[in-house]
Amino acid sequence: MLFAPDTEWSLRAAVELVNSAVDPDTLTSCEQLEAWWTAHRYSGRHDRDAAELAALRAIRPELRTLLTSDRDRAAEIANTMLAQERAVPQLVRHDGLDWHIHAISPQAPLDRRVIVETAMAMVDLIRADELSRLSVCADEQCDGLVLDLSRNRSRRFCSTRCSNRTAAAAYRARERTTS
Ligand SMILES: [Zn+2]
Ligand SMILES: [Zn+2]
Repeated sequence: MLFAPDTEWSLRAAVELVNSAVDPDTLTSCEQLEAWWTAHRYSGRHDRDAAELAALRAIRPELRTLLTSDRDRAAEIANTMLAQERAVPQLVRHDGLDWHIHAISPQAPLDRRVIVETAMAMVDLIRADELSRLSVCADEQCDGLVLDLSRNRSRRFCSTRCSNRTAAAAYRARERTTS
């Protein structure tokens, strides 16, 4: 593990949230929000209503900007987010999870918590100078973000769908030049 577990959870959740906005949008219903919530084991307040869904959809562009900015700009954005939400880092243990950090009350709205948890995760990435762990999908037609937490930094595509499509295109190109 490269970073503390909570840093990696927060980054995975944020990247999937940002990628849900890539056409076709995959965060348009409370069921889809529920799937994201469960997959990333988010905790705390969860209203499960249209307002919460709308709020989460609305933060996707600013999360994308945070996750794709260069290091200096990302530091500025993370600082602003943490200051605006009056983040106070606290070590907590809950639901069988060992000590980890939350910097906002579990009763704050989910979209505010996602902002703070993502900004906190970026604090780790920026301090470790590991922003290269985040990139945009190598498929030219895809705007999806890639989070590469592997040791050998081998991830270039946001999904197997994109890596398969690129591999198939490369294969077809080879076929054309050899026939
Ligand atoms: Zn927690
Ligand atoms: Zn992709």
